Parts: sequence; C-alpha cells; structure tokens
Amino acid sequence: MNYHDIVKDDMLNGDGLRVTLFVAGCSHKCKGCQNPETWDPKGGIAFDEEALNEIYEELSKDYISGLTLTGGDPLYEANVDALTTLLKNVKERYPDKSVWLYTGSVYEEVMHLPIFNYVDVVVDGEYIEEERDTALRWRGSSNQRIIRIR
Ligand code: SF4
Repeated sequence: MNYHDIVKDDMLNGDGLRVTLFVAGCSHKCKGCQNPETWDPKGGIAFDEEALNEIYEELSKDYISGLTLTGGDPLYEANVDALTTLLKNVKERYPDKSVWLYTGSVYEEVMHLPIFNYVDVVVDGEYIEEERDTALRWRGSSNQRIIRIR
C-alpha cells in the first residue's frame, strides 16, 4: 500500500485533534475531487515501518483523539487488507482512541468488510459536485453521511 501524507494535529477530518493518513488509490473518480493525485495506487510512497511508528507516536499523545483514514479511498482493494491489520493493531494498542474512515462507497454496500470491526465513524459516499456545501462539517457534499457505528 502506498500513501501520500500523514497529517498531524488535523482538525478537519473528524472529532478533536487527529492524526490522518492519506492513502493512495481510488477508483471512484468523482467529478471535482479535491485530491485527484491520490487516485493512482502507485502514487505517493510505500507505507513502511517508519510511517507506522509515526502514527503510533501521534496516537500515544493524550491530546490526540484518534486516527482518520482517508485518501484516496481506504477501501480501495489494494488498501483494505493492510488497513484492516493496521486498525486491528491500533485498537489493541490504543483502545480509547477513535477511528474515522472516509470512503467513496456507500456504507450499506461495504459494511460487511472486517475493517469495520475497528472503525468508530464512517463518512461515506462519493463527492457530488452539484451537492457541494462548504458549510458542512467534515464532508464536502450533502449526500455524504457521518455514520457513528459505535
Ligand atoms: S472518493 Fe474521495 S478521493 Fe476518491 S474520487 Fe471521490 S472525492 Fe476523490
């Protein structure tokens, strides 16, 4: 799996201050996507031990509320297995930290995936330019939903 960025002290992608992983790879190709450079699964750099430790170090800080996975799409087929393992380990090490996951898929169509055993909040749905609303918190278009799984 490749990724583009690990953003620290992120206030834009979920509750509180978070560490956010922007993965590479997305097949949705939404018109008006803010991050089209993330569509290519071969873009960015390889997610390695160093990147993993960077995330763990952030999560160990009291003021960090949790981890957000976005991209790209964390559910892109080349990403989902590696991210399921990552989240399993994160929840074992940091059970009190929340996990948010952004996906272009509709939740009901992907809710069977094991990764959702480790996700607290999912923001779902493709970005629809005609439904863009800058007043919305944590999402770009009004069709997208913030679903608190647990
Ligand atoms: S799902 Fe997200 S990253 Fe993928 S094309 Fe749509 S807006 Fe862009």
